[in-house]
Amino acid sequence: MTRKEFLHQLSLLGLGYGLGFTHWACESPTKPLQSNGGKKVLIVGAGIAGIAAAQALQKAGFEVVIIEARDRIGGRIWTDRSLGTAIDMGASWIHGARGNPITDLTRKYHIKTSTSKRWQVKLYNPDFSVLSDETLRQKREMAFWMYRRAYRLTNFQRKDASMAAMLERLIKDYELNKDDQNYLYWRLRVSELSEGASLDRLSTWYDTSKRFRGGQLVFPEGYDQVVKKLGQGLNIQLGQQVNQIFWGQKSVKISTQQNKIFEGDLAIITLPLGVLKEGQITFTPALPLFKQQAINSLGMGLLNKIVLQFKNFFWDNKLQFMSHLAPQTNPYMMYMNWGYFSKKPILIATVAGKFGKVLEEESIANVKRQVLTTLNKMFGKTSELISIKTTRWWNDPYSQGSYSHLPVGVKAAEFTALGKPVNNMFFAGEATHQTYLATVHGAYLSGIRAAEEIIKKY
Ligand SMILES: Cc1cc2nc3c(=O)[nH]c(=O)nc-3n(C[C@H](O)[C@H](O)[C@H](O)COP(=O)(O)OP(=O)(O)OC[C@H]3O[C@@H](n4cnc5c(N)ncnc54)[C@H](O)[C@@H]3O)c2cc1C
Repeated sequence: MTRKEFLHQLSLLGLGYGLGFTHWACESPTKPLQSNGGKKVLIVGAGIAGIAAAQALQKAGFEVVIIEARDRIGGRIWTDRSLGTAIDMGASWIHGARGNPITDLTRKYHIKTSTSKRWQVKLYNPDFSVLSDETLRQKREMAFWMYRRAYRLTNFQRKDASMAAMLERLIKDYELNKDDQNYLYWRLRVSELSEGASLDRLSTWYDTSKRFRGGQLVFPEGYDQVVKKLGQGLNIQLGQQVNQIFWGQKSVKISTQQNKIFEGDLAIITLPLGVLKEGQITFTPALPLFKQQAINSLGMGLLNKIVLQFKNFFWDNKLQFMSHLAPQTNPYMMYMNWGYFSKKPILIATVAGKFGKVLEEESIANVKRQVLTTLNKMFGKTSELISIKTTRWWNDPYSQGSYSHLPVGVKAAEFTALGKPVNNMFFAGEATHQTYLATVHGAYLSGIRAAEEIIKKY
């Protein structure tokens, strides 16, 4: 029996981990695994894309080394447990559970998930009165109709427009009253949260509606369980910030800021789009024009979170979301009640696009003051704020943004171009998945795709 067949048998029997065989690879990361593929693959980045690719390649008998700048795996999947409960500072949701490969992983690894009702939101008017269910229903219908109208209009004109421009036009054409304007603007600001980009950057044309069906799931005990389980048994070199990548027809050489050099036959680059845009990593020879064009034209968006831990609940813990309809003036308009899942009095505010960038420059004292003012008006009271934490994904050198989006006038095919291999260098990561960009499942599937491309070619 060849080693590859042996490994295959082990994986079929689920014995790899039990025998401590793969554990050995983790403990002696510099010692390469023997492989039947005969090729050594260097993977840059231990996010879900890199880890998924590594698992698939290792199973197929390739020798794999992952090079990661941070001192942890997971990248934009990052769970903080410092408040005595798991809080996801990066990805939170499985968007569409049915048929989603991440749902399959949670089943395989027995990871607990709970259903999040993202549209069950208690909405407060600008004067802090609560919108009735009936008003909310009417406003939803109005916004839905307007949005379809705008989409048709831009199609008819055969010219893309930003969501902000489209909004202005709708407000003018239909002479919307102030209440409807506010709601429509708020509705689009919610798109801003899911796309990460400001409305003046977002394309109206690009329809990101292709999603998995089924519920939206969260991880009460942390999303990082998925990457930790999936990453078991891999040779992952943490704390190695890649600064140069030499590639060619037959070999790759990758050097790091920490003066380490890794050599292999092939590479998979899973660097976030924001990092590629920054251009601090030198590729020798330079990346081909089509690749550089994709990097330049695609957009990297921003979503930040503010985690607020209070002494007591002062809101109804049966609610999942609360929001204030003052989208033009209030950057912190959407609050997720994490208490619903954790039973601890924790709210998570989300801030996107240009407001997200402002947050990163803002002092904690200012953020605290603004958030407490809004919450006080919404609930008539608050409780002692024990802890406040904010993310800074834009200034994070290993992410430089939260996820990709399609800016006005750019073709969606650029996502595919970003994922196209050049010689012995392959690409994965959320921004290389034209259909499921900006998601964990998109990143995961892109890693599997890159691994399959290698397995097929070699
Ligand atoms: C705030 C936020 C909320 C989100 N919410 C959701 C959600 O609810 N649902 C969802 O599906 N998706 C969500 N996403 C998107 C999702 O997290 C990403 O699409 C996905 O995790 C990306 O995986 P990846 O492997 O492509 O990239 P990453 O996870 O970013 O992995 C790339 C890796 O490369 C490493 N790296 C960077 N530079 C270097 C270097 N120079 N040398 C070596 N290593 C380097 C990074 O440290 C990182 O570990 C969210 C993201 C953010 C930031």
